[in-house]
Amino acid sequence: LWEQCVRQLKGELTSAEFNTWILPLQARVDGLQLQLYAPNRFVLDWAQNHYEKRLLELCTLFSEGSVPQITFEVGGVEHRVNNQTDRDQNFISAVVPELAQRRSNAHLNPDFTFETFVEGKSNQLARAASMQIGQNPGTAYNPLFIYGGVGLGKTHLMHAVGNIILSSNPTARVVYLHSERFVAEMIKALQHNKIDDFKKTYRSVNALLIDDVQFFAGKERSQEEFFHTFNALFDSRQQIILTSDRFPKEVVGLEERLKSRFGWGLTVSIEPPDLETSVAILHCKATQWGVELPDDVAFFVGRRIRSNIRELEGALRRLVANAEFTGKAINLEFAKHALRDMLAAQDKQVSVENIQKTVAEYFKLRTSDMLSPKRSRSLARPRQIAMTLAKELTKHSLPEIGNAFGGRDHTTVLHATRKIKSLRESEAGVDEDYKNLLRILNS
Ligand code: ADP
Ligand code: MG
Repeated sequence: LWEQCVRQLKGELTSAEFNTWILPLQARVDGLQLQLYAPNRFVLDWAQNHYEKRLLELCTLFSEGSVPQITFEVGGVEHRVNNQTDRDQNFISAVVPELAQRRSNAHLNPDFTFETFVEGKSNQLARAASMQIGQNPGTAYNPLFIYGGVGLGKTHLMHAVGNIILSSNPTARVVYLHSERFVAEMIKALQHNKIDDFKKTYRSVNALLIDDVQFFAGKERSQEEFFHTFNALFDSRQQIILTSDRFPKEVVGLEERLKSRFGWGLTVSIEPPDLETSVAILHCKATQWGVELPDDVAFFVGRRIRSNIRELEGALRRLVANAEFTGKAINLEFAKHALRDMLAAQDKQVSVENIQKTVAEYFKLRTSDMLSPKRSRSLARPRQIAMTLAKELTKHSLPEIGNAFGGRDHTTVLHATRKIKSLRESEAGVDEDYKNLLRILNS
């Protein structure tokens, strides 16, 4: 029965999910009783919450309609057979506070887990890669490099990996550090003649998580130190995870040898969420905070706040605070009112003029040149990018946009958007420029 279920689930789940949550389970089948044993509480909770219902369906199916019973427990078959359940229970309760302590030593936020991370098209690959690394640290991909704009979930994912490594391996040493903190710690160690201790500390971990490596820019001594740390960990097959606001090669002010090493493993990006993901995240946070969030409000907020997830969370937080303060229920009218300043500020930001100014600055051009009839390529490309951004970020029609760009025809705007779309697919540089601009305009 269990084997049939496993085979079926293997087909239904992604391999990361399957390897993380189903493979570690041990089963004992006793007539219509399926007893499942998980290696720890974390796996148990996850498996039970996510797969119990499906397992029940499958078991019912495979046992031709008779309704089986499924139980979940922490422990292994051996423990059970040897009647050592009492000791297991003690073991579990002893482990839990210890895990909290280890998380805090590792500077890991216990709230940033895979369970609280909503999956969507925009983060699917990054999430799957992180999950695999959580399961096979040091052997799956090394280093893992996650890049993307502000507030899109890089730090959250990184902590999720750290948390899962700690909870599945009681002896693993994990350290999370923001790169600025790495620099500060190193300087402190230098001042107090403790650089050897510093080296030893970071070169002896099983997983080193360094956030926002773009802040290493221009800090040569830190880069040198980090280079050696990286090599030591890499050579001994310990996991390294890095994040940045951009692709490794594009991080300015970083030594070439570091940039190239950062790309040795797997590099994945996180994109801004699409509407469905935004709505799912809002619902997830609302549930976490114990508040009722009607669907139309979630869609309203998700549609209006497109820039990043931190802003999304900020809007929800504001709604909740306002509702508590006024004692009113959260509905669409209420949300429109409570968020009006926030939305007005946002709308003001993304005007066509603003886009033109930002794009011109970005490419170091004069706005007037960009809007002029000149057709040189150094002007035409930025102009096309600006038009495409205007189409994407404002509610203006093609003719309105054409008009704002020195009285051009709407077909010119249409052509520009198509051109940029295909260039973004064929030329990484164009895509990067476009994303950088989106980020700037949305921040
Ligand atoms: P970054 O490091 O990319 O700037 P963070 O990881 O700090 O972004 O994320 C910003 C906020 O958004 C955090 O509170 C995080 O929990 C939340 N968040 C980001 N992505 C998701 C997601 N997919 N599901 C749920 N919450 C998310
Ligand atoms: Mg971050």
